Amino acid sequence: MSKIAQIGNVRLIEISPDPEKANCELCGKFAELRPYGENGEKICTDCGKKNSLITRKQIYKTLLGLSEKEALEMAKKAEEEDGPLGGKTP
Ligand SMILES: [Zn+2]
Repeated sequence: MSKIAQIGNVRLIEISPDPEKANCELCGKFAELRPYGENGEKICTDCGKKNSLITRKQIYKTLLGLSEKEALEMAKKAEEEDGPLGGKTP
């Protein structure tokens, strides 16, 4: 499991080199999970791609420590500029 620590303005994220696998809380698939579901559910990559905007928002909230509103605004901008997560790359 990854760990997050906040020290002043610096956020440290330790990503486990051997992530635990478990059953996705949305689709039930046994996979590597991340806590990026709409309500913090631990979800698989495929479920993360199903709602790209929400997944991005959750990533920004978790990794950057943004508020709900800030994370949503940043996610909307990224969706417009880069397209959805897991989509075609130019
Ligand atoms: Zn899933």
